[in-house]
Amino acid sequence: MRFWPTLLSISAMRVLLVEDDEGVASALAELLGHAGAAVIRTGRGADALHRVKGCDLVLLDLGLPDMDGLDVLRTLRRASAVPVIIMTARDSDGAVVLGLRAGADDYLVKPVRKAVLLARIDAVMRRLRRVAGETAAPSGPVVAGPVTIDRERREVTVAGTPQALTRTEFQLLSTLAGRQGEAVSREELMLEVWGTAVVAPDGARVRFSAGRLTWACEFASSSSSSCFWR
Ligand code: CA
Repeated sequence: MRFWPTLLSISAMRVLLVEDDEGVASALAELLGHAGAAVIRTGRGADALHRVKGCDLVLLDLGLPDMDGLDVLRTLRRASAVPVIIMTARDSDGAVVLGLRAGADDYLVKPVRKAVLLARIDAVMRRLRRVAGETAAPSGPVVAGPVTIDRERREVTVAGTPQALTRTEFQLLSTLAGRQGEAVSREELMLEVWGTAVVAPDGARVRFSAGRLTWACEFASSSSSSCFWR
């Protein structure tokens, strides 16, 4: 067995490996496992969209049995900024351009050498962590007008009065409060609150729960901050 150095940026990562070739998937899972990552494997695109929450990185094959990997990536990008590295046999310039334009952070053509894959993952993660460190949100309760949301203590007050919210309502409000002044897509809310990047065609779950929080957003938008969803 070759020894692969444990890279700090890879150890303790959760990697979603989307690859339908069993042999390739097993080899990659072993490689990433030796580097210290926890690997979640799936060979289907739709399954990937349901399992991506909480993952630090997605390795995405494009030729999948149930849907094209580019469609997986486009759907994922409406919900999440999780780093994605495409690994595929499609090697034309056009395919690379399509993949990067669809939101991939890097694009590797198979067969990929193990050392090169680890180095590419390391480079993507170091770059993104540096950006995340520069734009980290301040900690502590979020205040929007009379509404205060304490995400650590899971408490919401309006003008000092505690509010009784369901778990889903709290998560929805907390997600919106953490993104004040930004438009938050239904796909992002689905992933954060319900754990899947797939939105039902009618978007009913988001509308129902968001509707019950109208009071909070009205209060909040009466101040300089606003809640949005599109
Ligand atoms: Ca494939």
